[in-house]
Amino acid sequence: MPCCCAKNCRNRAEQGFRLFRFPADEKRKQIWIKQCAKHPKGDLRLCEFHFDDSQFENKRQDGRRKLKPNAIPTNFYK
Ligand SMILES: [Zn+2]
Repeated sequence: MPCCCAKNCRNRAEQGFRLFRFPADEKRKQIWIKQCAKHPKGDLRLCEFHFDDSQFENKRQDGRRKLKPNAIPTNFYK
């Protein structure tokens, strides 16, 4: 099962956290990697914890949260 790749974060999908794949766009991907300060390799994902509410699109009817196309992760453990 995938787990979050952020530093000091152990949130996993089986704990009910939603995990987001890194963007396919190389420029945005690099921003995410820079933000989470960890060596990028393998299947990179970040959990919803690292995204501010403002980075999500408005609540959908099916209750799933979707990141905005230009979302940037900003919440990280020090
Ligand atoms: Zn995380």
